[in-house]
Amino acid sequence: MKVAEIIRLFDAYAPFRYQESYDKSGLQVGDPNDTVTGALLSLDITEAVLDEAIEKGCNLIIAHHPVIFSGIKNLTGRNYVQRVVQKAIKHDINLLAVHTNLDNMRQGVNQRIAERLGLQDTRILAPLSGNLLKLCTYVPTAQAEHLRTALFAAGAGHIGQYSECSFSSTGSGTFRGSKDSKPFIGTAGGAQEKVQEDKIEVLVPVHLKNRVEQALVAAHPYEEVAFDWLQLQNHNPETGAGMTGSLPLPVPATEFLALLKKQMKAGMVRHTALTDKAVQKIAVCGGSGSFLLKDAIAAGADVFVTADFKYHQFFDAEGKILIADIGHFESEQFTVEIFDDILKKKNVTFAVLLSTLDTNPIKYF
Ligand SMILES: [Zn+2]
Repeated sequence: MKVAEIIRLFDAYAPFRYQESYDKSGLQVGDPNDTVTGALLSLDITEAVLDEAIEKGCNLIIAHHPVIFSGIKNLTGRNYVQRVVQKAIKHDINLLAVHTNLDNMRQGVNQRIAERLGLQDTRILAPLSGNLLKLCTYVPTAQAEHLRTALFAAGAGHIGQYSECSFSSTGSGTFRGSKDSKPFIGTAGGAQEKVQEDKIEVLVPVHLKNRVEQALVAAHPYEEVAFDWLQLQNHNPETGAGMTGSLPLPVPATEFLALLKKQMKAGMVRHTALTDKAVQKIAVCGGSGSFLLKDAIAAGADVFVTADFKYHQFFDAEGKILIADIGHFESEQFTVEIFDDILKKKNVTFAVLLSTLDTNPIKYF
């Protein structure tokens, strides 16, 4: 299997186009044409992780955090980033980062945290907007069902827990083909045709636009297919930052913190003052999630589980929510399991290994 196929596999699960503008997800070092000899999965790429990959015969490292984050103007081994890049090139190791594109997916980093905490009824906390399109097309009523089926198969018409969503209305279309045309109805160079057509409207996430358009053209009977793409301002509930979910029953805050510590293997939890109020609705955000505090409060969450809160930001809880900061590494350490699942589902022919190294740069005394 080529590196390019692995990139496509991850792109299908968490499209790279959904990464944040500041991010550098994707292949950072390497050659898409390389044949994968083995994949090492890690949260971070350090020199030690690179050595582990070399030792274990893996020429692909898939990590959550990109090793190159800001511009590199020279490669002289002056810092660990440069040394990692140089060594990866020397040893033909491919470095693939799957970062905020995975943070922004319903089935991503936060879903994994929610599962570990046993949260139910999960929803994206701050959905992204602007990545949904509406496709409108016109087809003879007799062929409408066939076309709808083809569009659904290509991924159109999916909303939350619902699939095969569409709206159709009936009207009349007209056309007149030239003598060089190949009309589905009527004759080339003949009189104007008036046909009963269905207008079909379906939602399409932007990453599936090309695939759905190809399916449309392939399944539509007309030589020239009439269709419009409209960009929507709607939120896409499948993409965005953070997640909320509920514990099956309300529990005392201390009980939840104990569960959190255990399930997320956290050495400690930094938190705001406890109250007597039981907690049930939990907001989570793997990594640095303090920017979502207002959203978590607005969503009515009792607790916000995340990392990297600064001293003054704890004050912003204002007694409305319990902030539980478990540490950046701790909150995202299970992300490699998602990578593992993606590769295992595909029955890849090379070895897939989870790094045995603890890359957390923060230690607790
Ligand atoms: Zn992170």
